[in-house]
Amino acid sequence: MSVVMKFGGTSVADAAAFENVARIIANERDDEPIVIVSAMSGVTDSLLAATNIASLENVFERHRAVARELLDSSRAAAFIDRLHEAADQLAALFVQNPAKHKSLQDTVVSFGETLSSTLLAEVLNQKGIRARQVDARRCIITDEEYTNAAPLMPETFAHSKSELIPALESGVVPVLGGFIGSTKQGATTTLGRGGSDYTAALIGAALGVREIQIWTDVTGVLTADPRVVPEAQTVERLSYGEAAELAYFGAKVLHPKTIQPAIENSIPVRICNSRAPHEPGTLVGPETETSPRTVKAIAHKTGVTTVQISSARMLGAYGFLRALFEVFDRHRTVVDVVTTSEVSVSLSLDDASALPAIVAELEQLGTVRIEKGRAIVCVVGEGLRGTPGIAARVFSTISDINVTLISQGASSINFTFAIEEERVNEAVTRLHEEFFGHKKAHKAQNREQ
Ligand code: ADP
Ligand code: ASP
Ligand code: MG
Repeated sequence: MSVVMKFGGTSVADAAAFENVARIIANERDDEPIVIVSAMSGVTDSLLAATNIASLENVFERHRAVARELLDSSRAAAFIDRLHEAADQLAALFVQNPAKHKSLQDTVVSFGETLSSTLLAEVLNQKGIRARQVDARRCIITDEEYTNAAPLMPETFAHSKSELIPALESGVVPVLGGFIGSTKQGATTTLGRGGSDYTAALIGAALGVREIQIWTDVTGVLTADPRVVPEAQTVERLSYGEAAELAYFGAKVLHPKTIQPAIENSIPVRICNSRAPHEPGTLVGPETETSPRTVKAIAHKTGVTTVQISSARMLGAYGFLRALFEVFDRHRTVVDVVTTSEVSVSLSLDDASALPAIVAELEQLGTVRIEKGRAIVCVVGEGLRGTPGIAARVFSTISDINVTLISQGASSINFTFAIEEERVNEAVTRLHEEFFGHKKAHKAQNREQ
């Protein structure tokens, strides 16, 4: 049974990184790997920001440099021809002003993954590993929601199988760009930023692989975002539920949609470090073991807006909540956390772009209060389910910070709340110290024994 190996942008940042990835793939050769790769780091951002071909010179140069360093002269020349073709196609797209058309923007941005996957397949062949670039747009078939497309599952499963099984059967390693797909009519789409993880999960589910591996620049899912808490530690095992909550509430290491296809097909997901390939990383699976530490990890996300709607009309009336959520539906705005009291509903939004129109409609239902610049903090662990006092520990640790929108998800494995954005790093650091600090962890473990 094969494995899916997905490499993120930092894993293919330069020639040394490509070489390292080739070594990692070579070690898994007996497992029939299917490789998914992101654009080289920073390339997606450059493509999105570019308005003309000149501004992409650095992007082309980085690809050229890898080809010159790792490929023999005829392979390098063939790849550099591909770069020229890409430059011509992109130049033609810029004339049509992709900033104004989401579908053109997706086509522009798809070059990042198309080029990195073409290059990686060449590097593998150069190293004696038979590989072939497979256009992911022939596998991942989506709706027409450009920039954030949803896969059409039956089509995606059928196309992925027919594209990939013959390659696997002939002993060739298929290499696909992540993140990109196409509509049934063949127009290029993308799955949303960070979407290569999702591609890996979709391909893994379609082919019923043994394991989906996400290779990145940290050793697995850590107890908190390492950019905020440098001493965060690897969590060895997570249940699907725990991983899904962490990803949803800001742990960027996994795209939020990655877990669903894995759960539905009972495929374990392993998160590994391409810079330290022998470290075991994190294994995500069906197990719901509670670790000695009740809290497994803390996630957070910033840039959140909270909305509170208060109305006496809500009291004992039906239909109110439906009317309220229909407003968000109409404006295609995703609601994250929701809490209610007798006379008010509070909720949080990641994407506030439709907010003015939403508020205008909500005001017909009640008094509306908006708070921007909020952050969501989410404490996650299967052990939260049966452990009293977590909320008290959270609140006493950050007692000087005003907490709103407190919610314990229906699964009872997360405890979520909103605070002001400016204090989120401080709050996460203090909570991490409380739940994972050396002395505390020691004491907690002794208590369990
Ligand atoms: P890739 O390019 O490989 O997809 P990403 O940048 O998307 O990598 O995700 C990895 C990054 O996620 C890490 O470098 C880290 O900064 C960030 N991150 C945030 N929260 C966590 C967490 N809880 N555990 C691990 N990494 C996290
Ligand atoms: N290259 C895309 C991005 O930067 C997708 C990914 O890396 O997962 O968002
Ligand atoms: Mg990512």
